[in-house]
Amino acid sequence: MNIAELKDAIDSETLGLEMYDMISRLHPICRSITGDGVRETLAVVDERAPLNVHEVPTGTPVFDWVVPKEWNIRDAYIKGPNGDKVVDFQRSNLHVVGYSLPIDERMSLESLKPHLHSDPAHPQWIPNRTSYYKEGWGFCLSHHDLERLEEGEYEVRIDSTLEDGSLTYGECFLPGVVAEEVLFSTHVCHPSLCNDNLSGIAVATFLAQILAGRPLHYSYRFLFIPTTIGSITWLARNEEAASRVRHGLVLTCLGDDGGFSYKRSRRGAAVIDRACLHVLNRKGRPPTVFDFSPNGGDERQFCSPGFNLPVGVLMRTAFGSFPQYHTSADDLDFVRPGALAESLVTLLDVVSILETDRRYLSNNPYGEPHLGRRGVWLSGDWPFGPSNQQPLLWVLNMADGEHSLLDVAERSGLDFDSLRQAAEALLKHDLIAERGRRTSA
Ligand code: ZN
Repeated sequence: MNIAELKDAIDSETLGLEMYDMISRLHPICRSITGDGVRETLAVVDERAPLNVHEVPTGTPVFDWVVPKEWNIRDAYIKGPNGDKVVDFQRSNLHVVGYSLPIDERMSLESLKPHLHSDPAHPQWIPNRTSYYKEGWGFCLSHHDLERLEEGEYEVRIDSTLEDGSLTYGECFLPGVVAEEVLFSTHVCHPSLCNDNLSGIAVATFLAQILAGRPLHYSYRFLFIPTTIGSITWLARNEEAASRVRHGLVLTCLGDDGGFSYKRSRRGAAVIDRACLHVLNRKGRPPTVFDFSPNGGDERQFCSPGFNLPVGVLMRTAFGSFPQYHTSADDLDFVRPGALAESLVTLLDVVSILETDRRYLSNNPYGEPHLGRRGVWLSGDWPFGPSNQQPLLWVLNMADGEHSLLDVAERSGLDFDSLRQAAEALLKHDLIAERGRRTSA
């Protein structure tokens, strides 16, 4: 089975449910940019997508950065004046500011308040806060709970460690015919947040599992990394592999019910940008498209000027633009099996274009070849019926050795898949010859 047929061979409904199950398993784990939560998460990924797990020691210089200390947490709470726990890490790991230093103190409400974070705009939700690069401590709670705190003495405890250790990331590599690579990157550093981080992890894992063992033209690399410091660390250690990346995507926020969004690579019109937009523009809901900007996730590092890799971002509702973003409401109700399945199928469509896009040269470029005489119209290997000859005519006309099927798809407005099948029929009748692929823009 070739990659183009893969999509029809999978049971996407079942896969959607399985991805949702994976998210449910990963949801309780307290992840951060380092620590055991990342390791536990990678162990779950590894069950389906075999990983090389790397441990990079604290203090390792990576370009202009240094690998930070490792953070781990066992428990945290705030006890009110009457001895009740008013904030409890065991109920939600979002309650603790990520990278909080350990503390075990009693203090007044007035001294405690500067360390408490809430979101008045969404008074029932716990916001997610981190303090990676500035040592401190803090708690997050719903604004509703914050307002109910009474004057008096509070017992504040965070049982965490911030010490020399390592930064952990996982890499799943699938070798293809050529060393040139397609890169998929997703972050693994958010605690109990589903759409922003777990959906990307699940979809990337299942995509890797589906592609593993298939005949692939490109080599595929899946990165499961903490955001920013993880991509900087990977790039610093893999400059040569990075130079082989021809197409890439950051995968995030792929599980909500919204339509798709796409953020272009810094190059703007790389093959990956064009392939994604070709697929997304043929969906029922038109995609939201963003030009590149140096805000967002790991695309900032992959698209930094020294690398300028052709890496875009595939999302459903874009990060930062849904109210549940970075709050406790980005939970198991916010992500849907059907949305996860559609995201996976969309990625298979994109991979299919990357794998099968080709340039062709007509063997009969002077005038149109007589298709009827050759029986191309009626040959039975033409899946669209004799009434729709458009894909055949377009592929023949653009078979000048310069234009690839993706070029033809954009110019003709026809579906890439119909053009690919037309090219296969024309090849069979010796009307065109392959002229290789045009890789990245
Ligand atoms: Zn995030």
